[in-house]
Amino acid sequence: MVIFYKFGGNSMEYFVGIDLGGTKICTIIIDKKGTILSRIKTKIGGEDNLDSIVDSIIKTYKDAIKDASLEEKDIISVGMAVPSSVNIETKTLIYAPNFGWKNIQLSKIISEKLKKPLFMDNDANMGIYGEYALGAAKGLKHIYGIFVGTGIGGGYIINDEIVRGSNFTAGEIGHIIVKIDGTKCNCGRKGCLEAIASKVGIVKYIKKMIEKKGEKTMLDKFSPDWKKSVGSSALHKALTNGDKVVKKAIIRSGKAIGIAAANIVNLIGVEGIILGGGVIEELGDFLIPIIKQNLIEYSMSNGADKIKLLKSTLGDNAVALGVAWFSSLEKNKEYLYKG
Ligand SMILES: [Zn+2]
Repeated sequence: MVIFYKFGGNSMEYFVGIDLGGTKICTIIIDKKGTILSRIKTKIGGEDNLDSIVDSIIKTYKDAIKDASLEEKDIISVGMAVPSSVNIETKTLIYAPNFGWKNIQLSKIISEKLKKPLFMDNDANMGIYGEYALGAAKGLKHIYGIFVGTGIGGGYIINDEIVRGSNFTAGEIGHIIVKIDGTKCNCGRKGCLEAIASKVGIVKYIKKMIEKKGEKTMLDKFSPDWKKSVGSSALHKALTNGDKVVKKAIIRSGKAIGIAAANIVNLIGVEGIILGGGVIEELGDFLIPIIKQNLIEYSMSNGADKIKLLKSTLGDNAVALGVAWFSSLEKNKEYLYKG
């Protein structure tokens, strides 16, 4: 007689992390040590509405379980990060500008479909939490995370606790003003960090230099549709091939991020600043020294002397890992929607 033991048996516990972004859903499964067993990524687009996005989330969940050779009963809890402020006490999504959603009980909707307890929080909070618990910021107690991609997100941890603020909007570094009457931002104001230093800000500046100063760029060759949408890798290629206007735009971005980082240090005195997101992943080797130089230059007296300026080590997985890990901890159980 042959007895088959399923690896791990029923004593093993697994947790799901869902990262709902503006253009994609990334769902992972982790074990109790934070090891990723499976990862499913799917694109979402402009035609998607709440129902179709909910369906896609459920599909990635089921696919991730299948991919890890698990069953739904093996999953203890689910964490979901969203591009929105979230009231973690009422478990409500407050406002997600990307989707135009306001005051939605998304935790309840997803939890009831999956029949699992579910925790929901802001994506930047969970990205920095991931780096704090499992990545570049392990061992630090006071940290700030700046995530530079299409936009700029931020979040921070003081005394080992995520700071959410009274309206659950704390940490929105993308919309602090770094230049009075500067470039117009998508939020309607002018001179926001995001309007200058994000990928959108970099492209805006390149376009302006071409239109107003007649500068030339190699982006037409590396990414013909760059004015509408450009990957950070095309910017990297242009930079390494000596594209002067791209270089100027990236230096400008680095200066603005450095000034913002100095403002953070002056204001809250963190031990470490973690830099992540697609722009940092691709252009970090060039950008981080510029950020560091400006951080030192614009910090009060010796405020930045011992600051650790760290690059994300979890990359694309930071948010999903952070939210899966946060929701797996006993002390956070009260924040899970349980039906
Ligand atoms: Zn803004």
